[in-house]
Amino acid sequence: MQTNFSIAALAKPPMSESESILRACVHCGFCTATCPTYLLLGDELDSPRGRIYLIKDMLENERVPSAPVVAHIDHCLSCNSCMTTCPSGVDYMHLIDHARSYIEQTHQRPMLDRATRRALASILTSPRRLRASLLAASLARPFKRLIARLPGGKRLEAMLALSAVRRPPSSSPRSGTFAAHGVRRGRVALLSGCAQSVLGAHINEAAIRLLTRHGVEVVVPQDEACCGALVQHLGQEERALAAARHNVDVWMRENEADGLDAIVITTSGCGTTIKDYGHMLRMDAAYANKAARVAGLAKDVSEYLDELGILPAVRETGQRVAYHSACSMQHGQKLRDQPRRLLRSLGFLVQDVPEGHICCGSAGVYNVLQPEIAQRLRDRKIVNIEKVKPWAIVAGNLGCITQISSGTAMPMVHLVELIDWATGGPLPAALEGRQWTVGVEAAV
Ligand code: SF4
Ligand code: SF4
Repeated sequence: MQTNFSIAALAKPPMSESESILRACVHCGFCTATCPTYLLLGDELDSPRGRIYLIKDMLENERVPSAPVVAHIDHCLSCNSCMTTCPSGVDYMHLIDHARSYIEQTHQRPMLDRATRRALASILTSPRRLRASLLAASLARPFKRLIARLPGGKRLEAMLALSAVRRPPSSSPRSGTFAAHGVRRGRVALLSGCAQSVLGAHINEAAIRLLTRHGVEVVVPQDEACCGALVQHLGQEERALAAARHNVDVWMRENEADGLDAIVITTSGCGTTIKDYGHMLRMDAAYANKAARVAGLAKDVSEYLDELGILPAVRETGQRVAYHSACSMQHGQKLRDQPRRLLRSLGFLVQDVPEGHICCGSAGVYNVLQPEIAQRLRDRKIVNIEKVKPWAIVAGNLGCITQISSGTAMPMVHLVELIDWATGGPLPAALEGRQWTVGVEAAV
């Protein structure tokens, strides 16, 4: 794509990097076929190619974007499906990150929008505030019809629906060091996650049991913070960079003290961001090397276990499971085979979901900010999952689990919960009372 950035604009590193990305696009439009928003909305400006044109025009002219331009960019899920499809290797992820940050700095959003985005950034990155909000949501839920009629009511309604998803009881978020069982085969830091430590503490507990059972010492540093993904998606670049710097310090300290083989992540949305720390902090002389080191250590739990090799199943398996691959897993981190291989090695019958490359609508805080599109994507995903008639749905990202579970009664578990159970851990709460679809026993 031809570009016409001024010399002054190109002197700014983010601008010159975005210009290089734009120039790689050959307008072929292959990406439109796999873009969820183009699939639903049918508007070229809600496709990757359309957004690339809008971003080019905005950045090249250093224009303050209009509300319609911002709306088309806001519709983007950052699912990165277009990057998987693109034959020219267009780095859309970093282009849209820059566009979001540029919009945040130049465009004045309506007051309610600003307030919602500020509230989400504040609540979801703080376990304490998230817990308080869940309590408030449980009190507000009986009034949800009334709330839906308020200005911004659709977003509030979406928040209430997501907050109602059943969460297994678990102890409070744990930090500390968890000893390996038997001969130590490795030592890792486990990201407990800001939202996950509240909404999915049972996932962290399953991951600790699973890793220690496999001879891996697990450390959960007490002062680890949000990875920065949520604020990055909101265009709040400085906050995302501050979060990255904080975590780099925490993990480097741990690495220097006792050594780390990996930083293991059980939420693929966070994993995509942590693996990008090297890029995010590339211009920070004090952090660039350390951030690249941390990014190099970051591994999704499926990636780590696949390399480590897992124990054989001690339960009767053979159940048909639908594996939902999160966008951040398959498009962001390009991890496709590892989770499926682990499940198959344990005897599960793994079914791919039709249209598996299309987002479920979760996408960070997208399901709150764009509830109509998110709900349509969720319902489409559930119809596709139902086609494979699974005993359970398995995924590696809490956001997807919450999003899909908000629209179906089918049980959904995290990958580590199922592997933990198959290799000797407790039955995941979501599967209690579930009858086997193959085999002879009931899962009770
Ligand atoms: S597939 Fe790649 S090169 Fe083709 S229009 Fe999309 S982003 Fe541009
Ligand atoms: S990131 Fe996803 S929603 Fe955004 S343009 Fe690419 S395919 Fe479409």
